[in-house]
Amino acid sequence: MDVPFAAPLIAWQKQAGRHDLPWQNTRDPYRIWLSEIMLQQTQVATVIPYYTRFLASFPDVGALARAPVEAVLAHWAGLGYYARARNLHRCAQTVAAVYAENFPKSAAILAELPGIGRSTAAAIAAFSAGERVAILDGNVKRVLCRFYGIEGFPGAASVERKLWAVADALLPESDIEAYTQGLMDLGATVCTRNRPKCEHCPLATGCIARRDGRQATLPEARPRASVPTRSSQFVFITDGEQLLLTRRPDSGLWGGLLVPPEGDPETILGQLGMTALSTETLPPLKHAFTHFRLTLLPVLSRVAPGLACLEAGWQWLPLAEAADAGVPTPIRKLIRRVASAAD
Ligand code: SF4
Repeated sequence: MDVPFAAPLIAWQKQAGRHDLPWQNTRDPYRIWLSEIMLQQTQVATVIPYYTRFLASFPDVGALARAPVEAVLAHWAGLGYYARARNLHRCAQTVAAVYAENFPKSAAILAELPGIGRSTAAAIAAFSAGERVAILDGNVKRVLCRFYGIEGFPGAASVERKLWAVADALLPESDIEAYTQGLMDLGATVCTRNRPKCEHCPLATGCIARRDGRQATLPEARPRASVPTRSSQFVFITDGEQLLLTRRPDSGLWGGLLVPPEGDPETILGQLGMTALSTETLPPLKHAFTHFRLTLLPVLSRVAPGLACLEAGWQWLPLAEAADAGVPTPIRKLIRRVASAAD
């Protein structure tokens, strides 16, 4: 801890860091919270348009709490990791109910809310109230592992404990906002996963990874585990104008989103009391999730126009608009293919 860390980082952030992101220059914990959740696993450039649209529709926590979860999911569609959107909604409802729509600013209270982990709680508290608390997201873990030459996979409990202790010990007495933002900026723009720009780094003189040329091997990778794969048929039932979709249960893969029915086409059509005029197999689509890979096997079933589907949770959507409804990313790609195949 004797090597300078916080002071050069703060000075660098003030001079060369990011200052004009849409969620900066505010002390509003609602806006900061929203950006922090969106930025988990997602790049800044991707988040900006989502963030702007989201705020236009849900300008404060009360508006978000009162919105139906389907509307929240539709605004989230394409950002991935949909549990974040469902937790966002649950969190807004908790803040509305328990805190009378006053978003908490204390890290300890924030960390109790749905979907807010220790690091996110610290970031919101630092930016909204200047609280002196440490963040430790993936970018910060990378910076600390490299700077101090910390070995082991940072997701392992023992390594993570060590990293939290280091992060706590490094906290400066003042300028917590610039320090926290500096860690984020450094990890996102200089100490990047591949080819870090050490020549522009304010921490270069004390950095062990740089001294020893170990930037490519620190932090250590997750120990290899084989990723399971599975495949599944998805039946795109269309009358040429409309597409039949069903809403997934709230929990599990793609919870709450609209998808085409999954399973054997004949069985599904039989259960719905429909008969296919024609059936066509479309090229498969591979999609990687965090814990497994899925090969989607799309089947296009054309049915006669005007068939009603009165089953609960099912809906016909215009084929031209279905891709923009609250559907998961691989399903959106397939709907576009189906729309051109069904022409
Ligand atoms: S010197 Fe290089 S490896 Fe070390 S913290 Fe800076 S950018 Fe990362």
